[in-house]
Amino acid sequence: MPSSLLPTYARADLAFDHGEGAWLTATTGERYLDFGGGIAVASLGYSHPHLVAALVAQGGKLWHTSNLFQIPQAERLAARLCEASFADYAFFTNSGAEAVEGAIKTARKYQSASGHPEKFHIITFKGAFHGRTIATISAAGNPKYLEGFGPPLGGFDTVEFGDLEAVKAAIGPQTGAILVEPIQGEGGIRVAAPEFIRGLRELCDQNGLLLIFDEVQSGVGRVGKMFAYELYGIAPDIMAIAKGIGGGFPLGAFLVTREAGKGMVVGTHGTTYGGNPLATSVGNAVLDVVLAPGFLAHIAAIGAKLKQGLIGLRDAHPGVIAEIRGEGLMLGIALSVPVADFAAAARAEHILVIPAADNVARVLPPLVIGEAEVAEGLRRLDATCARFERKEAAALSEAAG
Ligand code: PLP
Repeated sequence: MPSSLLPTYARADLAFDHGEGAWLTATTGERYLDFGGGIAVASLGYSHPHLVAALVAQGGKLWHTSNLFQIPQAERLAARLCEASFADYAFFTNSGAEAVEGAIKTARKYQSASGHPEKFHIITFKGAFHGRTIATISAAGNPKYLEGFGPPLGGFDTVEFGDLEAVKAAIGPQTGAILVEPIQGEGGIRVAAPEFIRGLRELCDQNGLLLIFDEVQSGVGRVGKMFAYELYGIAPDIMAIAKGIGGGFPLGAFLVTREAGKGMVVGTHGTTYGGNPLATSVGNAVLDVVLAPGFLAHIAAIGAKLKQGLIGLRDAHPGVIAEIRGEGLMLGIALSVPVADFAAAARAEHILVIPAADNVARVLPPLVIGEAEVAEGLRRLDATCARFERKEAAALSEAAG
């Protein structure tokens, strides 16, 4: 039957009915090990009892009131996110793109409120992904996503990721901020070098610029720290988060220091749904688990084990896997075979991975996975690689369309 969904996705011919932990059960009854986590969203896996309880309890009481009133659940979530980060304020959104948009607006407003309205330019990086709104596709500057959508929003100067000299050269009288993903996700799990990130912080401090991190994919425990910026020993001024904070419920936020947020006064920004009681109740439930003693250490330890296992697969299948990269449970398998074929072959082995740029398969499992899932996942990925050695995989990908 033809689909009435606008055909902007090349969807696999696979639908899921329910899930538990890191496992999804398809409408056919077949079980899949989800090493993609709904693109780093299902941070606590599927049907986590604490999340379900929070959703059901709040769902039976009150979903939405608008931001014209006090929202105690949002107050609490904002206070906890600020307590767990560099920030003094949080603004809640419904998606990652909106969180990045809010971060961009906040940086521009800061410069304007500081007497520099001309400093609306933001330096961004090739290979970045910040969402699909006009501002966020303009920020990332990827021609594939800009093509045909008219003139991009001005004020973004895009340079090579990791090239500090190029950043220095791009700073001009109109520059007001730098926007970076510390670990590029869609770009192919490209981890920024510590010298690069520390260099960006220094350049911002020296030139009166704000440092904006896009941690929509890397934040909320994914890398074995609450936020990836902690890996670098510096802090941004503004940070966008989403994905993991809602555990599957649409929720994002941008976090900001008091100083960087000084322009965002009453009336400057808004949202109808953002931070409503239902979303922020779920966000609080996610934090109950992620901030519980030992949970971040668990992610770091299980991530190291998974990475080690993937490196073993690379050694065993050098014709299929070129490189393993990433931190915590934000890992990438750089492939020597086409990533679409690899993802299709993995599905045939009943394991899900997520294609990214740079011919990388992303491994972003729920943060709650244990040793058993790691062992099973590695076994299935080993079998996936073996399909290429038997030359079965390309045929599968063609069959899957
Ligand atoms: N920023 C990053 C780093 C992302 O990975 C994504 C989504 O993949 C976004 C922003 C956009 O988030 P959303 O799709 O929720 O708008």
